Amino acid sequence: MIVTPKIRGFICTTAHPVGCAINTEQQINYAKKHEINGTKRVLVIGSSGGYGLAARIVGAFSCGADTVGVSFDRPSSGSRTATSGWYNNMAFEKLATRSGRMALTINGDAFSDEVKNEAIEAIRKLPGGQVDLIIYSLASPKRTDPSSGNTYSSVLKPIGSEFSGKTVDVHTGAVTEAKISPANEEEIAHTVAVMGGQDWVLWAKALYKAGVIAQNAKTVAFSYIGPTVTHAIYKDGTIGKAKEDLERGADEITELLQPLGSKAYVAVCKALVTQASSAIPVVPLYISIIYKLMKENGTHEGCIEQMVRMMQRIYTDGDIPLDEKGRIRMDDLEMSDEIQQSLNTIWSDINSDNIMEKSDLEGYRKDFYRIFGFEVDDVDYSVDVEI
Ligand code: NAD
Repeated sequence: MIVTPKIRGFICTTAHPVGCAINTEQQINYAKKHEINGTKRVLVIGSSGGYGLAARIVGAFSCGADTVGVSFDRPSSGSRTATSGWYNNMAFEKLATRSGRMALTINGDAFSDEVKNEAIEAIRKLPGGQVDLIIYSLASPKRTDPSSGNTYSSVLKPIGSEFSGKTVDVHTGAVTEAKISPANEEEIAHTVAVMGGQDWVLWAKALYKAGVIAQNAKTVAFSYIGPTVTHAIYKDGTIGKAKEDLERGADEITELLQPLGSKAYVAVCKALVTQASSAIPVVPLYISIIYKLMKENGTHEGCIEQMVRMMQRIYTDGDIPLDEKGRIRMDDLEMSDEIQQSLNTIWSDINSDNIMEKSDLEGYRKDFYRIFGFEVDDVDYSVDVEI
């Protein structure tokens, strides 16, 4: 079948198997060049795309770890392609196995008890039957709480007052004013239930009870803070409340795992184009500008570069460098004064006419298509592929 991109809003409903495999392989090649004396057995929850996939790749190919991955992906059926995560998992498993690493993947809802139990069984199959690192990298619009059966949906809204700010339609380049009315109490609580620390804590409890966490293990979940221009919609909005709850979750897990000497950390990562971030208003415009600025001064990173640097940091010989709230700051380069001051200048006068010159919207678009295996160099998109 000839596979072409089909865009619906901020997602692409098709994925190219060859392009996804090459994307995964390119990240693997980068990871191989950065040997790290780190994890030997890692569980990655949310392992088929974005930061989770990159963390799994660094675990396997920089640290030489056996890996268990959990993701929620769809195989192909009829003329419908699989999700990009499905193809990424296939490519990862093939290359990890070829390098002599165990790579077990569970495809299902990470919020459910069943998938937690399947992950425990998979960990028991690894040598030693325990993991020394757990990466929590879920980004989901919905969660069903297994104990109550209630389903929660997350929203991306401001809290307290209406938000109004610049946003871009990444496909047309039109810069407009987005207006978003504030969330009500229920929407805030539901967003926290989906993207906060509750499920991370449930994972830690289940794994601990099953005895599959090694002594001195670490667990890391990902957060974002960002600049003032996105605060109303991110840090001070519903998703920010969920991220605050992730920090509460980290404290709860560290206390729970105290007998093992294990610790939970929140890592604040860089804003990057992923399926999750493209759904957030305002953020794509911000990302397009910092892409340009960070590429120009040589500090631009993608998910794989971020995850290599994070693993180097958490497996340093000394104490892990943390901020005043105990977080790992992988957004240090993005948040540097130089980048943020230039951003503020550009932000105030960017518009539909000058966006191509003042931002790297082209780079944003390319990265967006690449998530789904399109616009990857050396792929001939005119030939039939097995989906
Ligand atoms: P992503 O969309 O690229 O990946 C999300 C992963 O979660 C996928 O593997 C998907 O299959 C999996 N997943 C989603 N729902 C699931 C479910 N119910 N069961 C099992 N797996 C499920 O997202 P991402 O951008 O890499 O985000 C990962 C984390 O990093 C999120 O917590 C996000 O807030 C955080 N983060 C992202 C950015 C960014 O700019 N992208 C920046 C900082 C922090």
